[in-house]
Amino acid sequence: MDGCLSLPIRKRATSTMDQVMTIDSLIEKKVRLPSPPTIAVKILDAVQQDRASMQQLAEIISSDPALVAKLLRIANSSIYGLSYRVGSIDKALTVLGVNLLKNIALSFVISEELRTGGEEGFDLDYFWRRSVTAAVAADLTAKMVGQSNEDAFVTALLADIGILLLQRHDPDEYPVLLAAHEARRCPISEVEKERYGFDHAELSAALLGRWGLPKEVTEPLRYHHRPGEAPEKYLEAAEVVQLADRLSAIYHAPGGSGQVDQLQTLMTSRFGLSSPAVEMLVDSVAEKAVELFSGFDLDPGEMRPYSEMLQEANEELGEMNLSSEQLLLEVKQANQKNEKLAAELRQANSKLRELVFRDGLTGLYNHRYFQEMVDHEMGRVIRYGSCFSLLMFDLDHFKQVNDNYGHPVGDLVLKNIAEAVTASVRTSDVVARYGGEEFAVILPETDPSGLRVFAERLRRRVEKLETEVNRDKVRVTISIGGTTYQPGVAKVDKFRVIDTADRALYQSKALGRNRVTIFPLEGGRSHG
Ligand code: GH3
Ligand code: MG
Ligand code: MG
Repeated sequence: MDGCLSLPIRKRATSTMDQVMTIDSLIEKKVRLPSPPTIAVKILDAVQQDRASMQQLAEIISSDPALVAKLLRIANSSIYGLSYRVGSIDKALTVLGVNLLKNIALSFVISEELRTGGEEGFDLDYFWRRSVTAAVAADLTAKMVGQSNEDAFVTALLADIGILLLQRHDPDEYPVLLAAHEARRCPISEVEKERYGFDHAELSAALLGRWGLPKEVTEPLRYHHRPGEAPEKYLEAAEVVQLADRLSAIYHAPGGSGQVDQLQTLMTSRFGLSSPAVEMLVDSVAEKAVELFSGFDLDPGEMRPYSEMLQEANEELGEMNLSSEQLLLEVKQANQKNEKLAAELRQANSKLRELVFRDGLTGLYNHRYFQEMVDHEMGRVIRYGSCFSLLMFDLDHFKQVNDNYGHPVGDLVLKNIAEAVTASVRTSDVVARYGGEEFAVILPETDPSGLRVFAERLRRRVEKLETEVNRDKVRVTISIGGTTYQPGVAKVDKFRVIDTADRALYQSKALGRNRVTIFPLEGGRSHG
């Protein structure tokens, strides 16, 4: 048992009792200790007189029906695991024994006395829930480690009542001190000693000592925060109260559930308890404490066994993993959807671009696109050399077609000619409707002789083209003008290139229509 690293190192205890005396008198001087409840005094008196005790104790308890009810309830609770129901105090006394029943009675009486007058900002309910849980934990731990200590319950229950007294004595400063201890993670007893010269455990011991509780109760609780300093006789009992306090913290203190591993290590190293045994202990503390809460006028509330909480936490963790997987899947799906949308958008954009650059009637490129493509082609020729030709044509006497057959037929003729031109060109050529019944063809990599050959072929093709209208065949001719752009030959801009082709076209018109005129590009001036 000695040499346990997890518990405080034992100090030499030669003057422990002297120290206790000094501390107790310091407390007496500083804190106004309340008087004990009358019934507690009577109970303690009765048990001190050995012979008459059993009968006397039964009478005292029976004078308080509420206390009787509480005692019978606890006697019949699973904590004592009786195989039959106990229906009277006499019976309870025989079954549980004088000492145990006395302790249970004192627990109720004293805790009830100290339940009233809670200061504002101090959670009395929380305090007693934690204390009752510690009491159950102490009782079960004592049994588990083979201590058969009937005082364990009441000792752990009252171990912290010093906190209540300090709260009453110093209502302004003590809560600040408690908060500071939590923030600094510094043992509460150290902070208390700094301020008052004693800690709450010593105060608990002093009060209960004055009220006549035996040393078997007061001494273990005096040292429950530093069992290493306890006299040999009370060492193990002090350790049990300390462990019980920690076990209770698992259920009640903020972040307490994280301390199970620590408790397990302590229980294993100090009392040789196996992990499953500690787990069982921790669980049954919750089950049994809940049974007792109402006896102490506490709301049973939610207090589930640790293993259940652990399982739930694991399930939640699993769900969290699941939901992060789900999230990942959703992100993936959203990305796929986005990609699909982006592709659709690209397609829609190119469609839109087509629409913006196409002529509605013929499906050819429109004037705007033609202008861009002339720029583009000139730039390409300037960068890479070579040449391009531009051809423009206008329908001859087209007004007459409209006049004779109507505008829709004129449209049909325009469409047929557009188709014929498209069919005549290379894929790299650009055919555009320049306006009305005037068209243009950009012929990359085409010199003047190539231009003339193509223009003639086109002229003849259109000439032969027939548009059927009610068994009538409509035929039109075109007048063509063209020019070739070669870098270095002439320093000209786009407008001069178009103007030259246009002038060649009107030269064809002037010369009688249905013909081809090619003008060379001349820099510096246009032909007027
Ligand atoms: P030319 O060019 O040989 O001098 O004689 P033209 O009769 O073709 O004379 P002009 O170029 O002045 O007239 C063009 C006619 O083309 C006028 C207009 O009614 C017709 N036109 C222009 N655009 C369209 C169109 O989109 N559809 C139809 N059906 N006719 C059009
Ligand atoms: Mg015309
Ligand atoms: Mg015209």
